Amino acid sequence: MKAIGKFILLKPEEFDSWLELQKTSRAIRLVQLHHTYIPAYKHFKENNHFALCEAMEQAHLERGFAEIAQNFTTFPDGKIMVCRSMNIIPAGIKGANKNGICIENVGNFDKGRDVLSELQKGTILSITKSLLAHFKLIPNDQTVVYHHWYDLNAGKRIKVEGIGVTKSCPGTNFFGGNTVADFNAYLLPLLK
Ligand SMILES: [Zn+2]
Repeated sequence: MKAIGKFILLKPEEFDSWLELQKTSRAIRLVQLHHTYIPAYKHFKENNHFALCEAMEQAHLERGFAEIAQNFTTFPDGKIMVCRSMNIIPAGIKGANKNGICIENVGNFDKGRDVLSELQKGTILSITKSLLAHFKLIPNDQTVVYHHWYDLNAGKRIKVEGIGVTKSCPGTNFFGGNTVADFNAYLLPLLK
């Protein structure tokens, strides 16, 4: 564990003991999964976790957010940065923030771009499972959500894949794809 200001960098095996100590006052009903797009893998230099988070925070401040948008960031080496306190509503998905926890995964996981490393894959699975268990949520496509499933303008879930104004986030190749059907086929079984 290493902290600089509010940012706390954890090894994957340190996450559960950190989480156990947290007192979260707001109701949590879902975990959001994203990719950062930029920074991508080429921007990760093994030892620049803090610099990347500080740069993301700067970009988010310039967009008018009060601080870095996400509660957690995962890295290609499997490490986890605590970014925004879980007690503060994230700025992750319009329509899914109030009761959400936002995880940003460093990389661009669209088809033909970064290939999710085994270490980061393991961390995404383990922290998502830990957060679901901590908040007593059953894994399904209501408790774990992809940014792609929400209409960016309406701030609501899209009813039919391909309809509405959406982002590809967390990437068209994120654990086999970014649709609800992909999630149910590929990621959900790994969360059980
Ligand atoms: Zn996103």
